[in-house]
Amino acid sequence: MKSMVAYNGREIPREDKVFAACAKAQDAISKFGPDEVINATVGALYDDAGQLIVLRSVDKLMKELEPADYAAYAPIAGTPEFRKAMLKAALGSYEPKSYTCVVGTPGGTAAIRNAVANYSCPGDRILTHNWHWAPYKTVATELYRGIEHFEMFDEEGRFNTADFDYKVRKLTRNQEHLVIILNTPANNPTGYSLTPDDWYAVKKTLDEVPLEKKIALVLDVAYIDFAGEPDEVRKFLGVVDNLRSNILPVIAYSASKTFTLYGARCAAMICLAHSPEVAEEFGRVNSFSSRASWSNPPRAPQEVITRIYSDERLLAEVEAERAMARDMLLARGRAFEGEAAKCGLKTVPFSAGYFVTIPCDDPDGVCDKLNEKNVFLIPFENGVRASVAASSEEKCRRLPALIKAAMEELQR
Ligand code: PLP
Repeated sequence: MKSMVAYNGREIPREDKVFAACAKAQDAISKFGPDEVINATVGALYDDAGQLIVLRSVDKLMKELEPADYAAYAPIAGTPEFRKAMLKAALGSYEPKSYTCVVGTPGGTAAIRNAVANYSCPGDRILTHNWHWAPYKTVATELYRGIEHFEMFDEEGRFNTADFDYKVRKLTRNQEHLVIILNTPANNPTGYSLTPDDWYAVKKTLDEVPLEKKIALVLDVAYIDFAGEPDEVRKFLGVVDNLRSNILPVIAYSASKTFTLYGARCAAMICLAHSPEVAEEFGRVNSFSSRASWSNPPRAPQEVITRIYSDERLLAEVEAERAMARDMLLARGRAFEGEAAKCGLKTVPFSAGYFVTIPCDDPDGVCDKLNEKNVFLIPFENGVRASVAASSEEKCRRLPALIKAAMEELQR
């Protein structure tokens, strides 16, 4: 076929691996029934019966919306009340010292997209960890940037601060701008959360970047509200709120997981700027990019989140429901870890969150072997990812031995 597309150097794969694996799992479920299949592909929280968890309190508010609440256009950067609510939701009890500005976006993906568009140049390389969510590369490619990664872990399984430092120095030698994306706490795909020592090392590296180089430190906190105790998992804010003036922290805070509003497309990008001018500029340039990409973000989820944050009783209800879901998820992660230790299955360092990752040499081969047993995972470049969010605790207990057996079978 003669292509009609102006690829402009972009490499566009034929299929998305996550959606392809998910479709295979769905197919198996319709043939054999849900009890016979482990679908550990999906990045959404499911209950033990295999139903998508939607916070009841959020669902109720969504259904109470009047037509004008969802049909009217929202301002490009989101309604003022929503922006205030998202600041509270993202920062929790932390009081920022910096100047903040909030721009609402249709999902965390869009926040990352805007940050890359406005804080790097075409041809630049975006720095992130080798274990990362695949759409970072998609966003970079679409915007004519590339990805450079640092090794996330050293040989002892600790956060690889030396390689982070090396890559920051290397890239800032040639680029005036550098976007760094760190996905923590509860990283996708590993489940790792940077420790206070890791943050100390990240700050040390950033403190040494020459002042004429401009860094946007994008903190993708998509899983923060499922990573542990809310104040505890926000402790890193004290570090990033205290960086030098050539570093602009940008928090990509998504409502997809936090409010179980995945398909409603709602998030915010929040800067912690050194001056009111940089904060104002952040609002202006990112609104411009939004206008050019999707225009207005959906109004319905903004209205729901605004209502939650303007009523203490509602907020307490949502938080209590979420805490139950989070505890269930944490228990699944511990169940997986416990069984992995028992059967000698090595995982990539894990703290909490939706996923556990197992390093291996032939991820596609391991997934294919598991598919024969009606078990579905996602292959990454150097490992396979299991969604504990989408699997019951009982299935999480069974998974490690199944994965171990598939890896051993391949070695025979
Ligand atoms: N970042 C990571 C690491 C994710 O896994 C996701 C969702 O899966 C997102 C960001 C943002 O998702 P959304 O665009 O649905 O908010």
